[in-house]
Amino acid sequence: MSKPAVITVDDDPEVLGAVERDLRRHYRDSYRVLRAGSGAEALEAAQRLKQRGTTIALFLVDERMPEMTGTEFLTEAGKLYPDARKVLLTAYADTEAAIRGINDIGLDHYLLKPWDPPEQHLYPVLDDLLSDWSANVRLPYEGIRVAGSRLSPQSFEVREFLSRNQVPYQWVDVDQDAATREMVTALTDDPTMLPVVLFPDGSALVTPTTLELAEKVGMKTHASRPFYDLVIVGAGPAGLAAAVYGASEGLGTLLVEQDAPGGQAGTSSQIENYLGFPSGVTGADLARRAVTQARRFGAEILGAQPVVEVRREDPYRIVKLADGSEISCHALILAQGVAVRRLEVDGMEPLVGVGVYYGAAMTEAAMYRGQDVCIVGGANSAGQGALFFSRYARHVTVLIRADSLRKGMSQYLVDRVEATPSIEVVTGVEVSAVRGQGRLEAVTVRDHAGETRELEVAAMFIFIGTAPHTEMVAGLVQLDDKGYVLTGPDLTRGPGGKPDGWPFDRDPFLFETSAPGIFAVGDVRAGSGKRVAAAVGEGSGTVSMVHRYLETV
Ligand SMILES: Cc1cc2nc3c(=O)[nH]c(=O)nc-3n(C[C@H](O)[C@H](O)[C@H](O)COP(=O)(O)OP(=O)(O)OC[C@H]3O[C@@H](n4cnc5c(N)ncnc54)[C@H](O)[C@@H]3O)c2cc1C
Repeated sequence: MSKPAVITVDDDPEVLGAVERDLRRHYRDSYRVLRAGSGAEALEAAQRLKQRGTTIALFLVDERMPEMTGTEFLTEAGKLYPDARKVLLTAYADTEAAIRGINDIGLDHYLLKPWDPPEQHLYPVLDDLLSDWSANVRLPYEGIRVAGSRLSPQSFEVREFLSRNQVPYQWVDVDQDAATREMVTALTDDPTMLPVVLFPDGSALVTPTTLELAEKVGMKTHASRPFYDLVIVGAGPAGLAAAVYGASEGLGTLLVEQDAPGGQAGTSSQIENYLGFPSGVTGADLARRAVTQARRFGAEILGAQPVVEVRREDPYRIVKLADGSEISCHALILAQGVAVRRLEVDGMEPLVGVGVYYGAAMTEAAMYRGQDVCIVGGANSAGQGALFFSRYARHVTVLIRADSLRKGMSQYLVDRVEATPSIEVVTGVEVSAVRGQGRLEAVTVRDHAGETRELEVAAMFIFIGTAPHTEMVAGLVQLDDKGYVLTGPDLTRGPGGKPDGWPFDRDPFLFETSAPGIFAVGDVRAGSGKRVAAAVGEGSGTVSMVHRYLETV
């Protein structure tokens, strides 16, 4: 933890030097003593310290300075550091200004020049103020701070990205914290440019992309080699399992993730049916453990890098990343899972991230403490979401199309939902519109008879099924009519009993697609189990097929 600062300001270099010397002599063990030759210079220094998260304990400022008087400076500085003690250094003639300052700006003390000997005139006063300050101040958090607004979707995205990548940060709502709002305005000249991410080294990123953020927080975003034995697309349970097995069995393995390791499972508040965790495991915990395990075996993991194209230049498989870089490999595993389906009703677009969320958005839960929220969907993920948000929200309404929860949800979750008094299940309805100025205020639901009614809710979490994103391999591998990747025995065969263009005598391996050496596992695969254990099983199992394939290249 860095020492709090004491700043002295005076336009007379001789006086400034003398005050600084006296302050250092007495306070240097516990405080950083800083000096500035004008109010403007001192304000700049104070801004910088604020960005770095350093506290200022005390300002000792000359009243008579050109351009900005001591009182004017303390007024501005007090906005940045409201808890800092404020002391004016005055000549006898300025005592009037000092006395006014006590009332107007909450001046703590004024000292008359000269202050010699300091043991008698300076230290006793400052000792008293500093001990009072340290007894009452809450020392600041020194890590990454995200200064944003609940009304800014980009603020939500940044928080979600950091949380899902398990990067600790402190959230500062600029609508609640005037000092941070001023600091952000000073940095951007535009208070709507949110969020601003403040780093302990004093630097800041304004509305960063996930790639910029990932690079800044030290995540690996670029491959260290141009070629790997095995490249895996997607770090959900299937991809992570493939990485653990691939790397542990000696394959040069690269795992590329567009967002955060863990995939859908990483967004689950509690996975209770995964083997070996009798009291459940959070998705975040499972992801963290898997990442550590994969890295321990030497797998390289890239974050915030979507794969945008896959092509085949035999015997190589080439993946292109969003930043334009290309990586080649002998074997490729597609494990990009599925993404939550979008809800297309009136009013949605401007409210996504400001009250409307796809999936569990666990970072938001605390924000809706004591408020009413709704969950859309009736599958297991919706049940988990309802139980999770019921720990925070006053009332959770689950909106489902079916006439019973039992139609889409495992019995253990139905039992829990029914046993939770703050959860209400409304059956036979669908969302037909949402409304809100700057943030969600209400959701319109329509029943089977066409009757509509409005629910006033602060947040809506959507779990309405999923869809694969396989556009990047369309034309390269066979897909089913919903876009899932066909593999092994499910592949459509030509007259010779092999998929069209298949170059080998052998049949495609289990999990192998219609392009040799390209495999697909987990939720993206047609006919997969859509469960964590199934994805992990396929991811690990496919590595033995990869070995068999590699024997042929
Ligand atoms: C909220 C929720 C709760 C759930 N709870 C349970 C449960 O309790 N028990 C259970 O068994 N199952 C549960 N499931 C289902 C389970 O999580 C999934 O079946 C499982 O995560 C599928 O794993 P996967 O690796 O195939 O795909 P995913 O988990 O979907 O992971 C795919 C990964 O690939 C990444 N990706 C996608 N496209 C690209 C690209 N172009 N470039 C790079 N990366 C890309 C994605 O960002 C993602 O991280 C839950 C699902 C959800 C959403």
